[in-house]
Amino acid sequence: HAKHQGRGRAEIYTDALALEAEDRAELERDLLRGLEREEFLLEFQPQIDVASGYAVSAEALVRWAHPERALVMPGAFVPVAEESGAIVALGDWVMSRVCQTAARWAQTGVHQRIAVNISTRELAQADFFLRLRHAIATHGTPPAMLELEITESLAMEMDPRVLEQLRALRRDGVRIAIDDFGTGYSNLSRLKELPVDRVKIDRSLVRDIATSAEARTIYSAVVGLIQGLGMEVVVEGIESEAQMDVLRVIGCTLFQGYHLARPTGEQEYLAQFGARPGVQVRDAG
Ligand code: C2E
Ligand code: MG
Ligand code: MG
Ligand code: MG
Repeated sequence: HAKHQGRGRAEIYTDALALEAEDRAELERDLLRGLEREEFLLEFQPQIDVASGYAVSAEALVRWAHPERALVMPGAFVPVAEESGAIVALGDWVMSRVCQTAARWAQTGVHQRIAVNISTRELAQADFFLRLRHAIATHGTPPAMLELEITESLAMEMDPRVLEQLRALRRDGVRIAIDDFGTGYSNLSRLKELPVDRVKIDRSLVRDIATSAEARTIYSAVVGLIQGLGMEVVVEGIESEAQMDVLRVIGCTLFQGYHLARPTGEQEYLAQFGARPGVQVRDAG
């Protein structure tokens, strides 16, 4: 049992990718047990439209309230869950919780979508869409309250069956976003064929934007490409006002990052961003 492992466990979670096989197996068992014991929770981070200053949507981010540790971040267990297949059970829990929360928000007048991360392994399940629709039906969630975030690499490799399912969801009102765009190799001509509403540009592209002309040039070109295809840009990882200034000039309006807000629990999120007017952000001008 985990309790007997003592201090050595700290490292297990700090760098899941460096784990040896048996530690991974143990983490996997812990994960499944954690799911049974409902040790997971969601935090929410706002996506803010600077034109209005309001949060327009929230990204749901999973955390593990491990009984013997501080809150464990997804970087330490999602990769292992993906490799072992436990991500399917974890993803089911996340989706169910998101659908339940989104339904409640809709009922109480919080008209903000909730974006949920979907990993490759989940989407590869033949019954993924069936289970998603089941969660929506179970909780009576308005599909227009939901957004699916899929990674760039996955989006580029999607088979026709999955694409058709995503199109159907989109017709029902679910929004589709590409996550971490700009980190992988993209077939850019393929981008326009994907059923996608939003593209979240990876935060690695934002980092040097206030200090490097090259970084600005690249960002600006990526934004132009996405907007030119009729999709919305979401800036990920905004950490300073200087970065925001540059990005507003480039034409970005949707921002998510520590500079505006860190992910927080639902109650705190609703207290801060649930009612309009929400956050005070300097006018887009
Ligand atoms: P992501 O989907 O790209 O989520 C954004 C990550 O960046 C989050 O980390 C968020 O807290 C962090 N972040 C937001 N603003 C800033 C900023 O200004 N600076 C920096 N440095 N970071 C910022 P988090 O919560 O640790 O999640 C990491 C990744 O784990 C996510 O990346 C996503 O790929 C995965 N993940 C999180 N929740 C889930 C989930 O429910 N299901 C699945 N399959 N994956 C998840
Ligand atoms: Mg995401
Ligand atoms: Mg991302
Ligand atoms: Mg990601």
